[in-house]
Amino acid sequence: PTRESIHYFGAGPAPLPTAVLEEASKVILNYNDSGVGIAEISHRSPEANAILANAKSGLRQLLDIPESEGPDGYEILFLHGGGSGEFSATVYHMVSVWVARQMKQLTESGVEEDKVVEKLREVLEKKMKLDYLVTGSWSLKASQEAARLVGSEHVNIVVDARKHRNGNKFGVIPAEDSWSQTQDETECALTYYCDNETVDGVEFQSTPSGHNLVADMSSNFLSRSINVRKHAAIFSGAQKNIGTTGITIAIISNKLLPPLTEMPDPKIMRKLGLPIGPIVLDWPTIAKNNSLYNTLPIFDVWIASKVMDRLLHSSSGSPRISTQEAESNKKATMLYSALDNSSGVYSVVPDKSVRSRMNICVRVKGGDADAEKAFLKGAESRGLMGLKGHRSVGGVRISNYNAVPVEAAEKLTRYLEEFAKEQQK
Ligand code: PLP
Repeated sequence: PTRESIHYFGAGPAPLPTAVLEEASKVILNYNDSGVGIAEISHRSPEANAILANAKSGLRQLLDIPESEGPDGYEILFLHGGGSGEFSATVYHMVSVWVARQMKQLTESGVEEDKVVEKLREVLEKKMKLDYLVTGSWSLKASQEAARLVGSEHVNIVVDARKHRNGNKFGVIPAEDSWSQTQDETECALTYYCDNETVDGVEFQSTPSGHNLVADMSSNFLSRSINVRKHAAIFSGAQKNIGTTGITIAIISNKLLPPLTEMPDPKIMRKLGLPIGPIVLDWPTIAKNNSLYNTLPIFDVWIASKVMDRLLHSSSGSPRISTQEAESNKKATMLYSALDNSSGVYSVVPDKSVRSRMNICVRVKGGDADAEKAFLKGAESRGLMGLKGHRSVGGVRISNYNAVPVEAAEKLTRYLEEFAKEQQK
């Protein structure tokens, strides 16, 4: 098949706008008539700097990210290591910040310097908590990484959504009054949530509350407006809505980026038995070096900046992401309505109140293996590709990312309707 003859609904890596890839195929050979390809230029060259600056400015406009100066500002970082790298980076950093704040408080309350570590150890053992909202497979993984790094006694599972549903499966977000959050801000190193659970098709419909809020937005980034100001940090791997696999974007509050000199010395972290992360995942180091601490894949940043340019130019609303948000909603509504009107041929996995606009998880005939196989086969014969559910849950998953055109969603909707009719005969 050719690119034009198919529609791809893969969950990530995901489709990219064809126009961006066409331009990419040229610049990879020769960037800006320099005779050198974009993947060959130095990450410290003026060209690379301009690409990085453009990507940052595009993101600031799209998501209304407060400017970087001052405590109310946010830094934008480009990192290696994917979403999973940030599961660890989040813990390394938020725990360090927690230690820095505790040390400051102890010193200010008159505890002598040689007693600070001893006192700190006591406070740490009794009080440090990392709050995790477990609403799907990715937040579960993130919480497991936290437990691996700092010990499960410090990880507070605020909610395990599986316990609130028949069959012990993900698919709901229980009401906040059933959560067990750490109330005292000084004890809570972070509150973690995954805004859109890619495997389970569960999406938060509004920002949850919590101290030092960190969000994984890997699979719904740039698909709707968000309230950055409610967050300590937000991160997203690039390979769904932003670009090619290889970079991760993080948006970090300046309140969490004290000068490196104010962060706890590694010696203290070692004495406390707390983990010290790799330098390439260290947010303050990456921020201080304008994301160029080590070699950044500038080609990937270029792709991201082009994807963002397109979103900016196609949008006249405020916030600038509103046009994309309306399109995402339109496609999702169309698909869900075909699924809901199938007289039971399809069943959407998560509850209606938490359905994801990005990853639509479905069972055909209650999970009948032959029916699901037939559905996927029929889809492929029509050029509708990448619809198989995640290996851990099975079924069908329609990933409705930004670069999936409306006509692709329309074509899939027609197929959903046809297949359902066939099954009802
Ligand atoms: N978080 C979410 C929501 C994801 O969907 C994924 C991957 O699909 C990850 C994290 C992990 O990303 P990576 O494979 O880049 O480590």
